[in-house]
Amino acid sequence: MFGKVKTGQPAAAGPDSSPAECNVVLLGMMGSGKSALTVKFLTKRFISEYDPLLEDVYSSEQVVDQQPVTVRVMDTCDQEGPVNNERYLTWGSVFLVVYSIDSMESFKCCQLYLHMLSLHRKSPIILLGNKLDMDLYRQVSRSEAESVASCYGCVFFEVSACLDYLSVQHVFFEAIRRARKG
Ligand code: GDP
Ligand code: MG
Repeated sequence: MFGKVKTGQPAAAGPDSSPAECNVVLLGMMGSGKSALTVKFLTKRFISEYDPLLEDVYSSEQVVDQQPVTVRVMDTCDQEGPVNNERYLTWGSVFLVVYSIDSMESFKCCQLYLHMLSLHRKSPIILLGNKLDMDLYRQVSRSEAESVASCYGCVFFEVSACLDYLSVQHVFFEAIRRARKG
């Protein structure tokens, strides 16, 4: 199950120094599929029409590599790009920067987020190309995205919020693993 939560302090470390909590922040241009990915991870379902102006934080109990973790997901909504970033910069333990593979504009917007995160020395970061089901209309090649990801020292995946759940779960679990490593 999952529920909405208020944003509070950054995720705390557990007694064995591996975080028992993980705050995942989704960033990227409106329309790239952040809400669809969030809902897919939390409910295993694809909701095609989600309020585009809704920004919220959700909490979910997960087990990653046999270790329980409280995952909080902040599904952001920036209408002006990466300007008002205080709310997630200190809160987040890992950042998913999302674009849509059928939109070069969303990929350019991702680079603004990657740049801003690097200026604030934030990591780990995952660059995530969404809407893999729209491969026919692809505007952003894998190699282009891979090279941008390597410039910023982040890992890169492509998924679709409307295809299989396990690929989406894999990305979130990978985010949690990377946050654990610090
Ligand atoms: P957000 O503004 O980043 O939160 O984007 P949304 O999650 O609201 O998605 C924007 C639009 O893209 C909606 O119409 C979604 O149904 C659609 N969408 C989201 N993810 C996918 C996907 O993986 N494939 C396809 N084909 N459409 C998607
Ligand atoms: Mg949204």
